[in-house]
Parts: sequence; C-alpha cells; structure tokens
Amino acid sequence: MRLVTVGVAGSFPGPSSPASTYLLQAHDGERDWNVVLDLGNGGLGALQRHVDPLDLDAVALSHLHPDHCADLSGLYVYLRYHPTSGATRTGTGRRLPVLGPAGTEERAAAMYGLQPGESMAGEYDVRAWQAGSPVRVGPFELEPFSVFHPVEAYGLRVTGPSSVRPGERATLVYSGDTDLCDGLVAGARGADLFLCEAAFQEGRDDDVEPGVHLTGRRAGEAAARADVRRLLLTHIASWSDPQVPLAEAREVYDGPVELAVADGVHEL
Ligand SMILES: [Zn+2]
Ligand SMILES: [Zn+2]
Repeated sequence: MRLVTVGVAGSFPGPSSPASTYLLQAHDGERDWNVVLDLGNGGLGALQRHVDPLDLDAVALSHLHPDHCADLSGLYVYLRYHPTSGATRTGTGRRLPVLGPAGTEERAAAMYGLQPGESMAGEYDVRAWQAGSPVRVGPFELEPFSVFHPVEAYGLRVTGPSSVRPGERATLVYSGDTDLCDGLVAGARGADLFLCEAAFQEGRDDDVEPGVHLTGRRAGEAAARADVRRLLLTHIASWSDPQVPLAEAREVYDGPVELAVADGVHEL
C-alpha cells in the first residue's frame, strides 16, 4: 500500500502544506482503493493532485479539531453538486463512509451551516469509531485506539496489502494528535511505518498541560517503546523549525526517522 502525505502542517495550514490530510491507496486485485486519513484545512485542494474525490472509498477522522476535519465541508459540495456525478444530478447518491468520533455528523453539518431539516445523509454515511473494533474498507482494515488529547481522539492502526513485500500485509500506524500514553505505544506496536505527530518542542512547550501534543523526543520514545520499523514525523506548525523535533527524536530512537513533507509518497 502507498501513503501519500498530502497535508502535513500542524494545527493550521502552512505556506507550503495543507493541514493534516493523508491518502492511503492499495489495489486488491480488482481495483484501486482510496482512503483518506483526516481532511484538514486545505487538504481537499491538494488531494485532487492524487485522486478524484469521487473515487474515495472512505474518510477516516482521528478527531474533530478543524485542522483534521475542516474540509469535510468542501468534500460535501463536491459529492453533492458535481456536474455529472453529484448526488443531486444522478439521484443515486453513492454515500461515502465517514468514520470518526461521536458527533462527527453534527460537526460537519454545523461547519457547513446546514439549515434545519437538511442533512448530509445523501452524501455521507457517518459511523462512530469504537476503540478496538476494526473497520474493513476493501483491502484495508482500520483499527482505532484511544489517545491522549483534549477531545475524543483516536490513533489509527491500518493494515493493507504490502507493495514492497508481495503477498504480505503491511501496517501503518497514525498517531492523530496525542501526548505520550500507553495506548499510543500499544497501538503502534511493530508498525512498518509510524506516522506520528511532533508538534511541540522540549523546553519551549514544557508549561503546556499534559495531554495535548508530543514533542519530537516523546514521539521518538513512543517509536522506540513500540519497536516500529520507521518513524515519520508530522503535524509541525509553520512557527516551528522542523529540524528541532527531528533531532529530538533521533536522540532516543535508533531506527530511520524522516520528516513528512507535502505530497510525499511512501510505499510500505
Ligand atoms: Zn492537530
Ligand atoms: Zn487536535
């Protein structure tokens, strides 16, 4: 399977990247499958460089902060009003599964400003995560696990057909937004690729209460404790120098560490 890091900016879009938006692609022997992990501010635009939004098979949201879900509004417009394939044109309304925390449907409706009596049910099939209960989407299996953030938030453990080890399955773990916690380490155990946020810096952000974000060092600690094969740091805001969390992670994790960049492609 292939991970495209469509948007990697932390907390808000940056000058060279949308906010958190990650595309997973795999072929199951019959067709290509496309799943988006988070759809933050600006992500829908850049996503179209890689896939037609009509060809998405699911949107999987880690939590409901805007930098992870804001472009649900734009995607709703695309699915509803597309001139030839929109739900209002075809009347068929292929409903896109949207997996997220409790309240996802209400949040999407509020962001868009739906009028009373209106609904997104013709376009979105919204389903709530249950921690530990995997959801199947074509060749992918997505298992949410609870993480440590100020709102209901999940990390996602995703397995799918490996594109570098034919016949085997590969594991991507996405941290979502979280501070260091045992659930994150358990969820990331043995991952081929650990896509992990590193929004904070040691020293600079020490006075923020626990339970918000990882530093590069804490991301590296989670990677080391979980014994992952590769660490990919993301969710770094434009006010930060990405070399700082990168260096922090390398002090405590011996495996390969990289910074996620917009439109980066990773086969696993
Ligand atoms: Zn965030
Ligand atoms: Zn958040």
